[in-house]
Amino acid sequence: MKEVYLFKLKFSTPYGLRVGGSKEDINVLTPLKMDEYYVIPWSSWKGIFRRATEVLIADPHHFNGHEDDNVVDDGSLDELLKAKGLADKSNEKVKKERKKFIAMWNCPVERLYGSEYFASAVTFSDTLISSGINDRAHVVIDRKTKKAKERHLFREQIINVSSVSVKVIVRDRIGDWFKTLKFLSEVGTFIGGGKSRGIGYAMLDWKESEYAKVDALTRRAVFRPLGDFKL
Ligand SMILES: [Zn+2]
Repeated sequence: MKEVYLFKLKFSTPYGLRVGGSKEDINVLTPLKMDEYYVIPWSSWKGIFRRATEVLIADPHHFNGHEDDNVVDDGSLDELLKAKGLADKSNEKVKKERKKFIAMWNCPVERLYGSEYFASAVTFSDTLISSGINDRAHVVIDRKTKKAKERHLFREQIINVSSVSVKVIVRDRIGDWFKTLKFLSEVGTFIGGGKSRGIGYAMLDWKESEYAKVDALTRRAVFRPLGDFKL
């Protein structure tokens, strides 16, 4: 069995947050809600972590979509390539696609979060929040006159929450994953909308977050502080 890690990650959110919900009234920015809870969907978490890893690796090949990376096609991934119908090395089109596959396989971003060829190695939970709302009124300022536009008032609902947690399963590339966590604990990120107003700023709380390596035999998970992990 491959190694599997579980994470309970806590983010501090000192200015509250809002992950956008449906627009029933165009003048009110409302948070996404499911039953009585506000929600940060797993897909939002995936986007947040993916962007962090992208910033961290800062690889121009990645941002070019790995179109013409200079990779070595040495046959070590032949089984995977064959399963994707990319076995025929004599076909120029297949050859090019093999290279793209290999480049993505070597890239921490695609390996962690998935690509057109293979699945993601990371699974995120939804986050449910039961907190109150701060309702703020904003005036839209006209860029030319610098004056408040008449009747251009919008309201913004911000979830009044000082920390949120997410559970994550990681099945591969644990080193790249921990580097991403370190980055999120040092630089932080934004969850949801209102970034220009500082809303949604989030920092991973390194001391309050935990990980567990799932034991291959007992399938038991013993959680430890992130700081205990040795890269
Ligand atoms: Zn990439």
